[in-house]
Amino acid sequence: MSKPLTDHEKRKQISVRGIAGLGDVAEIKKSFNRHLHFTLVKDRNVATPRDYYFALAHTVRDHLVGRWIRTQQYYYEKDPKRIHYLSLEFYMGRTLQNTMINLGLQNACDEAIYQLGLDLEELEDIEEDAGLGNGGLGRLAACFLDSMASLGLAAYGYGIRYEFGIFNQKITNGWQVEEADDWLRYGNPWEKARPEYMLPVHFYGRVEHTNEGPKWVDTQVTVQVCFIFFLWGTNAPTRIVIPVNFDLFLKLQLYSIKIITSMECPHKTWKPTCAYTNHTVLPEALERWPIYMFEKLLPRHLQIIYEINQRHLDRVAALYPGDNDRLRRMSLIEEGNPKRINMAHLCVVGSHAVNGVARIHSDIVKTTVFKDFCDIEPEKFQNKTNGITPRRWLVLCNPGLADIIAEKIGEEFLTDLFQLRKLLDFVDDEMFIRDVAKVKQENKLKFAAYLESEYKVKINPESIFDIQVKRIHEYKRQLLNCLHVITLYNRIKKEPNKKFVPRTVMIGGKAAPGYHMAKMIIKLFTSVGEVVNHDPVVGDRLKVIFLENYRVSLAEKVIPAADLSEQISTAGTEASGTGNMKFMLNGALTIGTMDGANVEMAEEAGEENLFIFGMRVEDVEAMDKKGKVAINHITGTLFKVFADYEAYISCQEKVNELYRNPKEWTKKVIRNIAASGKFSSDRTIAEYAREIWGVEPSDVKIPPPNEPRE
Ligand SMILES: *Cc1c(COP(=O)(O)O)cnc(C)c1O
Repeated sequence: MSKPLTDHEKRKQISVRGIAGLGDVAEIKKSFNRHLHFTLVKDRNVATPRDYYFALAHTVRDHLVGRWIRTQQYYYEKDPKRIHYLSLEFYMGRTLQNTMINLGLQNACDEAIYQLGLDLEELEDIEEDAGLGNGGLGRLAACFLDSMASLGLAAYGYGIRYEFGIFNQKITNGWQVEEADDWLRYGNPWEKARPEYMLPVHFYGRVEHTNEGPKWVDTQVTVQVCFIFFLWGTNAPTRIVIPVNFDLFLKLQLYSIKIITSMECPHKTWKPTCAYTNHTVLPEALERWPIYMFEKLLPRHLQIIYEINQRHLDRVAALYPGDNDRLRRMSLIEEGNPKRINMAHLCVVGSHAVNGVARIHSDIVKTTVFKDFCDIEPEKFQNKTNGITPRRWLVLCNPGLADIIAEKIGEEFLTDLFQLRKLLDFVDDEMFIRDVAKVKQENKLKFAAYLESEYKVKINPESIFDIQVKRIHEYKRQLLNCLHVITLYNRIKKEPNKKFVPRTVMIGGKAAPGYHMAKMIIKLFTSVGEVVNHDPVVGDRLKVIFLENYRVSLAEKVIPAADLSEQISTAGTEASGTGNMKFMLNGALTIGTMDGANVEMAEEAGEENLFIFGMRVEDVEAMDKKGKVAINHITGTLFKVFADYEAYISCQEKVNELYRNPKEWTKKVIRNIAASGKFSSDRTIAEYAREIWGVEPSDVKIPPPNEPRE
């Protein structure tokens, strides 16, 4: 028998990681040693693994900057329409491996690092996540940058360089404990400070009426430094400009206004320049800012908002004479104590396009929160179903799967994910079914080994890996999952000799520090785990694991190992979800409600290839109407959990049944992967570009090569 391959040898066989040329390898080794010496100021005697990571990061970064500068020159010459993407969050995660992939350098770096007696994966694991986001919304912005770059758009992201990212979550005695995420402690090789570009940002002060009109005077000024964060798409670059040191969300809005007002206004008004994407209809997340706060902090802005509101309401009054209730509903100012500004209304009035993030969500937006606005300007409202970048969420995190797909259909799917449809030709191909199942099993073993080495927990790799990872929230219904676990436990205890399909239920996610109920849900899970995991009657048929500190780099490890993806929010509450898409692309089957993008996933793959259960939006609405006065918030939450309990449990039984038949299971997996093309963020961004931003993705061609100009 031949010797089993080492991890390095296995990685070398994967062609989607880039073909390593010997010249490249020699050049990378040279550059690595030069950076270790001159940038890190160390030699091999005293260098730590972190030094090696930084030496490699600088080596890879060098490949980036030449192209980046050339691209800026190219944009300067061609002057294409620019896209400015503003977000308070860019949940970037790690950058090293992604950059190597997008530059086609991964195998060359792997070989170079190996020849230096080091291990690439070990070095990659040293990088801190850039955790500048909470969850799906921030990660979406990061996927969008990757797609904008890969489509060659002249796009710029504007965000905040928080000195501390989202907190690190520790589990102590079953409870969440938050620790500061000091991600910049060792420095960030992926950024360049631009202290020469400083912008003053004004606050407070008062408005003075002068001959030239109103002036904002006596303000307090903070000066902000600009940072550039380098990244590169599969074909082309983009950059994020990140101001530093902000402590208030509001300040980014100001910074954005500053950026906009420092540009020439290209039209009579700014309105055709701005577009607004709504990401949630949950009332607690729709911001309403107290007027007294505005008045103090931004007195001139408040006046302008009053003026916008006046013109807006005049228009509505002309269309609906005497309809005072409508005027009240549509006003930017909400009466009450305190009076508030409805920020979403301001966005709708100030934008030429408004969109939701999945078809069902866009429909709900039009018929609920913005109904009155839609009555007046229906053409303003659009849908752009979310997506994920297949570079990070397939090639980077699941190279084994990417490779067997490339063997069958070539590598075009990396920039045109609809090509995955071609996999339908192989649904009955015995070899392909075997390969898909084998890759999944390898991913499960690898994740099991990770859990054992990091957390000393042993799990059964033959069991269903049943995974729910996302922020902890009542509407996402982690409680429903918990009730299922308890049901399974009771069944084993009742009939211990009966055959059970073994399961490992893994839940992960952070609770907002002030969200008591979410923290209680974590405690409930860890407590249920204490009972289930130590019961000798249960053995390895059921385990409950809480995955500590869920974040982008952990998502990359756990999602490829999943058999079952839990997407079980109350219908009508999850705007889109993007976790659902990551699991689908990585060969997990979905158990889910008809909510968010699940609806479109079922449409693409055929409802029979997902496990769909529970109330539809109409059923939830009917329930809300009936129970409106009778129940408070907590009983309302529990009501919706119990309402879907039976449907969920019987749907989980169907999961078990199919899992007993591995071949049929894997066929469904293949049908799901083949149907996941729609959920590439390349498709999403191409739609935004054409239908909202007014640019053709092909308007800006792939930038010229990377050598600096003479
Ligand atoms: C994708 C992603 C999310 C979003 O997950 P949902 O299931 O859509 O809520 C949250 N956190 C991280 C780290 C992610 O990668």
